[in-house]
Amino acid sequence: MSAAMTGTSVPAAVACRVSTLDTDDVALSAQAAHDTVQLARDARWHLDATVAGSSPRAAVARDGGLAVLLVGEVPDTGGPDAVLHLFRDLGPCAFSQLSGRFAAVVVDSADRSVTVATDHAGTVPLHVVHTWDGHIAVATEAKALVRLRGRGRPLPGTQEMPGLGGVRRVRAGTCLSLAGPGQARARRTWVVPAHRELVEPHLAAEQVRAVVEEAVAWQARDGMTTVLSGGIDSSAVAATVRSQRGSVSTVTMGTDRSDEFGPAALVAEHLGAHHTEVSTTVASVLAELPIVVALTESADPSVNEYLLPLARLYREIPAGHRVMTGYGADIPLGGMHRGRADLALEELIVEDMSSFDGLNELSPNLGSHLGLWTSHPYWDRAVLGRLVTLAAGLKRRHGRDKWVLREAFRDLLPEQTVLRPKLGIHEGSGTTSHWSEVLLERGVSPADVTATKARISRAVYDRVVVDGEAPGAVDLDDLTSTVVAAEPVRA
Ligand code: AMP
Ligand code: MG
Repeated sequence: MSAAMTGTSVPAAVACRVSTLDTDDVALSAQAAHDTVQLARDARWHLDATVAGSSPRAAVARDGGLAVLLVGEVPDTGGPDAVLHLFRDLGPCAFSQLSGRFAAVVVDSADRSVTVATDHAGTVPLHVVHTWDGHIAVATEAKALVRLRGRGRPLPGTQEMPGLGGVRRVRAGTCLSLAGPGQARARRTWVVPAHRELVEPHLAAEQVRAVVEEAVAWQARDGMTTVLSGGIDSSAVAATVRSQRGSVSTVTMGTDRSDEFGPAALVAEHLGAHHTEVSTTVASVLAELPIVVALTESADPSVNEYLLPLARLYREIPAGHRVMTGYGADIPLGGMHRGRADLALEELIVEDMSSFDGLNELSPNLGSHLGLWTSHPYWDRAVLGRLVTLAAGLKRRHGRDKWVLREAFRDLLPEQTVLRPKLGIHEGSGTTSHWSEVLLERGVSPADVTATKARISRAVYDRVVVDGEAPGAVDLDDLTSTVVAAEPVRA
């Protein structure tokens, strides 16, 4: 399928940089030409936005002196107009009402204020520099603000990017309004719920089913591919797409080291999916590390390890497509803690939900540099809220992890799929074990493998984000040798 046929299915602005400064070193990873849009201008004040996406049409709405730039999407396809109308009525409080997958910039020429906002989970990363002399620059990618390093002042509702003093990431679920020098006000638009509800088990499953259906319904379009592992999370998404739209396209990736072709094929056949298997080498998966770090702008080694296989798989999906994943269900449901039955699941979930912000696991950049738009129904605001607030006893139940999700979709899937134990994508593709082996072969001791992966991730981050080097220029073998040699290797 050509990008031209499906281009409108992908949100128009999938990356942006907005600035009152005349700097032209824009480095945005999104595919296709960059477009400059004027958001506000008078004799003393201007704000230009550079936007990139699969369509040259920027997602901008205007009304009088108000201009909205939307990167991403909100339900009911209202786009930036919906944001503008809500903002006109409610001001910054509008963002407490908006669900979706977005970052937004609102410029009010009347009072020369700029408001920036992330969605509930910060799924579209957003960065800001507010210089001491009152200039403002905003970008979805921190690397587009590198030249302003050291010039930004501290801001509420933000966190400094590692290695990039003065460049600040807007926290998840935050709306930050900036006016003249020294005027900054942040408000939370979403917080991780702390309460839990003990719902009657089958009612809980019905509720989970209903919110997932609603999320898939607003995110699904024609020209969409579901990345399927054959585990419960992605299988439930594929089954929902199939039941809502009458058909579903699925793709599964395996490597020369490991694959989940069997479990995925079982689901695909059950759903009558248009199913594709992609085979590749695990070495080509690991080779994605520099580009993955450049796109996530996160040095977290675990997150990068999960995203390596997805990044490799996305290369096989035609530009212009939407990609739907089952990513992230494990976080509110505690699905990855199968080996820790001794610990209270509730405590682990609280810990995981308090540490997701800034990991950028759901960043659209991973797909947008290939002209894809990714959506993750389990991190839709309503789905996440429902999953988090269910009592832990509904999540680990009858000796089964993610019980409530399995129960919710059992009638749509083969029994084997409903009962299938969790397997992470980094495990199912052999990525984790391959990367570990590469390090062991270089003499890293087993006890140091995890720490060495962390040092490698950080070294890559320093080059492709902090120093703004092209990911293609990073020779991972050389970099690995340098990192390994830098630390004394224990026998
Ligand atoms: P997991 O770590 O298994 O939770 O994987 C996260 C998401 O990535 C899944 O819900 C799927 O959407 C996708 N995924 C995982 N493994 C594969 C695979 N082998 N092929 C295609 N997609 C996958
Ligand atoms: Mg899996």
